[in-house]
Amino acid sequence: MKYRHLGKTGIRVSELSFGSWVTFHNQADVKLAQNMMAAAYDEGVNFFDNAEVYAGGKSEQVMGDALKKLKWRRGSYLVSTKFFWGLHDGINEKNTLNRKRLIEGINGSLERLQLDYVDLIYCHRPDATTPIEETVWAMHNIIEWGKAMYWGTSEWSAAEITQAIEIAERHHLHKPVVEQPQYNMFERKRMEGEYARFYKDYNYGSTIWSPLASGLLSGKYQKGIPADSRGALKGYDWLKDSLTNKEKLAKVAALEPIAQELGCKLSQLALAWCLKNPFVSTVITGASRVEQVTENMKASEVVDKITPEIMEKIDVIFGVKKDEDDD
Ligand code: NDP
Repeated sequence: MKYRHLGKTGIRVSELSFGSWVTFHNQADVKLAQNMMAAAYDEGVNFFDNAEVYAGGKSEQVMGDALKKLKWRRGSYLVSTKFFWGLHDGINEKNTLNRKRLIEGINGSLERLQLDYVDLIYCHRPDATTPIEETVWAMHNIIEWGKAMYWGTSEWSAAEITQAIEIAERHHLHKPVVEQPQYNMFERKRMEGEYARFYKDYNYGSTIWSPLASGLLSGKYQKGIPADSRGALKGYDWLKDSLTNKEKLAKVAALEPIAQELGCKLSQLALAWCLKNPFVSTVITGASRVEQVTENMKASEVVDKITPEIMEKIDVIFGVKKDEDDD
């Protein structure tokens, strides 16, 4: 496993990490979660991603119970959580980044995770109704109280992040250091467009999500939706259109010869492709079984095999044209 600095922080994250969205509690009980986390950790993964809202708080409970059983040295791994949607419908408790909610949020997450602190806290989405200054102060305070080490954003615009950084600089507060955007062969606009200049200027970190586009890029949806896949889960009907989209499936099929040429699985090609982007600090993988973790962790070995010619071939498949004079 290779490690990359999380933006300009002193922290190094494994280039492949492991997250619990959809899977923990819905597909994985504590035992399976423990086994998958152990498989990842044994391969060198040191970052485990979670969020308050995942499975309505149960995902944090499952990870907390698994961590308790795993008994790893606390210094040897990083855990994150995120706030925005909340767990209750109260007027000040959902879709917000207000100070009260963030502080209640971190206290609840630490209780469910059974940890003294988390390493990273994210503002899971921007909140247009709370002044960014209020959010920056709350995140700063949470860090000062030792309940988190660093803070970041998820799916914020470059302009919003810049504003948060500037507010923090003005008041000598802890600045956000990392963004968590979606990034995969289908979803590249933000990482390769809006954020590219921003990452360069600020050396901001990125922990990217859904690298397999919810499993689509593993090739498992080529013949319909398998009964034991995310696409067949109750409550995830909204994913079906994307997972059965003919144009998308044709692109995945066109990747198959490239994976064959490299002697790897489609999933490994798709994960390794994300790692070719130097602004990616870590690719957060997801899995519903141990075998997937083992397969995905081998993606690290594929990165160096992806030559500029192969990157170009992939761009052609996805209809992407790169700027000629882009340095
Ligand atoms: P992926 O796009 O990689 O999808 C993971 C799913 O694909 C697995 O649960 C599994 O689903 C399937 N899969 C994984 N590996 C394989 C394989 N080798 N072969 C076949 N199928 C495979 O990632 P996620 O969408 O899960 O996102 C990863 C993490 O990113 C999340 O856990 C979360 O931590 C974070 N995230 C953050 C968001 C944010 O807003 N900040 C939003 C979404 C995710 P199955 O077996 O059930 O088909």
